[in-house]
Amino acid sequence: MEYRRLGATDIWVSRLCFGALTISPLQRDMTALAGAQVILKAFEQGVNFIDTSQFYRAYPPIRAALNQYGSSDEIVIATKSYAYDEKGMALALNQALDELDREWIDIFLLHEQESMLTIRGHWEAVEYLVKAKHQGLVRAIGISTHHIEGVRAAALVPEMDIISPLLNYRGLGIIGGTKEDMVEAVEFAHGCGKGIYAMKPFGGGHYVQDPAQALQYLLDLDALSSIAVGMKSCEEVEMNTNLVKGLPISTSLQDAVKSQPRRLHIDDWCIGCGICVEKCPQNALCIKNGQARVDASICVLCGYCGGHCPEFAIKVI
Ligand code: SF4
Ligand code: SF4
Repeated sequence: MEYRRLGATDIWVSRLCFGALTISPLQRDMTALAGAQVILKAFEQGVNFIDTSQFYRAYPPIRAALNQYGSSDEIVIATKSYAYDEKGMALALNQALDELDREWIDIFLLHEQESMLTIRGHWEAVEYLVKAKHQGLVRAIGISTHHIEGVRAAALVPEMDIISPLLNYRGLGIIGGTKEDMVEAVEFAHGCGKGIYAMKPFGGGHYVQDPAQALQYLLDLDALSSIAVGMKSCEEVEMNTNLVKGLPISTSLQDAVKSQPRRLHIDDWCIGCGICVEKCPQNALCIKNGQARVDASICVLCGYCGGHCPEFAIKVI
């Protein structure tokens, strides 16, 4: 496994990052024990980097894996929160420290930023994180974003160390331009000294049938230190780590990983409240005949809508 430094920080991460959304209650909803086994397989293959979020509710399997793994301080944890003020961010950081049983969080991001305007709107939370960084509770601060404008904005903010942008070889889910525009923004941010790790290399699951091409596209971009991939089985971990290491994939491994394409499922008890429509960053949802409907061609299967549904009526299956 190759390790790269994240921008100007002293944090070194494996080129493959374990994306914890897939094992979380928003998607596969694995038990802490089952999720931990998949994470431990990733550690065994050289992965030292986990990406999660307060919103994913995936701290229990990560904690279980860290507890079972001998030297958990070697593992880099990135988490995120939608908190916009000091109080909310303090709660988010304390929850992460407590539930992950850590003395520090390596990377704390503002979740889903769109532009300089939204970053400024979260400034109290940023200032809290800066204080936490000085106290040694956080090592680096940044944003995650699906927006090209978000990347360009964070690049210009000195307090931001890390950017996690959505990027994949077909540009699915990128907001505000093409994949070429996103690559340009990422290269600009990299030139400004920001550490960058991409998310959604498989378009949220649309390109799982062609993982080699999807991963290679991102591995060839020098500005990216790492690529976060959601994985839900030991076979997926083995396949993705082999791809990143340039190792061959056996037919039996390919067969084990081959899966049906995932999709967004909306239960018939949806009450048509429209909350999910407002929360979808891709504008992939609408209300039709009193119930939510998805445009599958633009849905990136991020599962964010499901986390906001008061009726638990949406999930990625
Ligand atoms: S948030 Fe849930 S209940 Fe409301 S419209 Fe969306 S799926 Fe239906
Ligand atoms: S419909 Fe839901 S899963 Fe699809 S992009 Fe929107 S928030 Fe994400």
